[in-house]
Amino acid sequence: APEFDTMLDLFRASVRRAPESIAIKYFDGALTLAELDERSDALAAALAERGFGRGDRLAVYTQNNPAFVIALLAAWKLGGAAVAVNPMNKHRELAYLLADSGAKALVCLEELYAAVARDVIASGETAVETVVTCSPLDGQTRDDPRLFASTVRARHEGTLDLEELIARYRGRRPEPVRPSGDDVAVLTYTSGTTGVPKGAMNTHRTMAFNSQTYRDWMGLTPQDSVLGVAPLFHITGLVGHVGIALLLGCPLIIAHRFEPNVVMDAIREHRPTFTVGSITVFISLSQLPGVTKEDWSSFRMIYSGGAPIPPAVTEAFLEKTGIYIHNIYGLTETNSPSHAVPLGRRAPVDPNTGALSVGVPVFNTVVRIVGDDGRELPPGEVGEIVTSGPQVIPGYWNKPEATAESLPGGELRTGDVGFMDEDGWFYLVDRKKDMINAAGYKVWPREVEDVLYEHPAVREAAVVGVPDEYRGETVKAFVSLKPGAQATEEELIEFCRARMAAYKYPRMIEFLDELPKTPTGKILRRELRNR
Ligand code: ATP
Repeated sequence: APEFDTMLDLFRASVRRAPESIAIKYFDGALTLAELDERSDALAAALAERGFGRGDRLAVYTQNNPAFVIALLAAWKLGGAAVAVNPMNKHRELAYLLADSGAKALVCLEELYAAVARDVIASGETAVETVVTCSPLDGQTRDDPRLFASTVRARHEGTLDLEELIARYRGRRPEPVRPSGDDVAVLTYTSGTTGVPKGAMNTHRTMAFNSQTYRDWMGLTPQDSVLGVAPLFHITGLVGHVGIALLLGCPLIIAHRFEPNVVMDAIREHRPTFTVGSITVFISLSQLPGVTKEDWSSFRMIYSGGAPIPPAVTEAFLEKTGIYIHNIYGLTETNSPSHAVPLGRRAPVDPNTGALSVGVPVFNTVVRIVGDDGRELPPGEVGEIVTSGPQVIPGYWNKPEATAESLPGGELRTGDVGFMDEDGWFYLVDRKKDMINAAGYKVWPREVEDVLYEHPAVREAAVVGVPDEYRGETVKAFVSLKPGAQATEEELIEFCRARMAAYKYPRMIEFLDELPKTPTGKILRRELRNR
């Protein structure tokens, strides 16, 4: 049985154990656990005075900075939930999230307030009553050139300033409220590689469970330190960065946003031992000029999740850095992992498809492969991955129909297609909705992409189906090349043709400098399809 049922309990245990330990490192600033506790108390007291209470929602619209964590803790201390907002969201998206979640208060970067949130709130269509703005410079010496020029502190009418509030309320504590494991800790909106955003109800229990999964699966201890390369608003950041750092009481190293050079500097300076992120992040870090094996030597382990790892990429990364990237698989709805490769083990590669295994189910997790007719399939057969376990969310916020559809009987229909081998290792074939139907032949983009990644000039590849007069759909690849590398469309098509069945190889290749991605680094096939 897990030790902690709520995120607040696991944080409080760390504060009691080691109040002077560093909780957050952010450029040249650092916060101890006691300071984080004190600051979140102050913000909570200020929000409570303005009517925020049990069950209310606090939207957090910032980049990766200490204010994000302070806001989460403040919401939890009042028995409320945080709403994690993507800082790349624009007016329409923010308006939707604020309205859908019914957020009563907002913690917001002041530049995002000026550019987006002010107008959204002025429209009168949200329930936001209190706005607290913060700056990426909070807690810094304020002249670090890596903190961008746009961060001039400005005051806006009708908003409160986080640093001022904290100074004013320091030493105050809100009335103690104890959230229960069933309370929503964070509403995370699915990142939108599919349909309308839905608020996943990441409850205290489901989040706390998987924070403990990370610790126990990976053998993490308070001596570790976590490099935050994923956005904190995403489930990987919430559980795989914030959750484990609060649980262990160890440093979380964050930078304003993902800038490869800045993150590489942080690795050299702070010597993190653990991280989890998207493979595209690790590719771009390892390809920076002047990066040596020594730079990576502080890591005990790296996990990559959220998107497929082309096997050729793990090999190249290992050669460059000396580190084997462990695969980890899960969804927002599973609070990060449902599967992972055990530490120190190499994931097997499926001999037929060449796909790298995503691992085995983590603690207390039961996974079935289900066919189109709803039947459970035996090992080796391909079907939908259906997951249940203590980390699976109970549902989507105010969306009973979507909940019934995706979580019938509490089991999560992942929308991912895959299979299990005889030894219990799982493999993803692709996402159900990304399948290409070329004249009745099923083509899974993943398989074609894996082959493209084997070509020495290819940096990134994404394969989609495009309408075709004869075949219904045909296979098209978008490719970005490594800096300085050359390859023609004909050459890449030929490369694939020589390596796969005739119905699968791409008929068209379009070169792009950069493939469109979600903030977590996931390639947006949908956007490519719509081009
Ligand atoms: P949406 O749910 O709106 O489509 P999203 O895909 O970004 O958005 P997430 O919950 O962030 O939602 O991502 C979960 C998906 O990421 C999984 O369903 C799976 O397709 C993919 N994924 C996660 N981990 C892995 C992995 N290790 N290998 C391959 N794919 C992965």
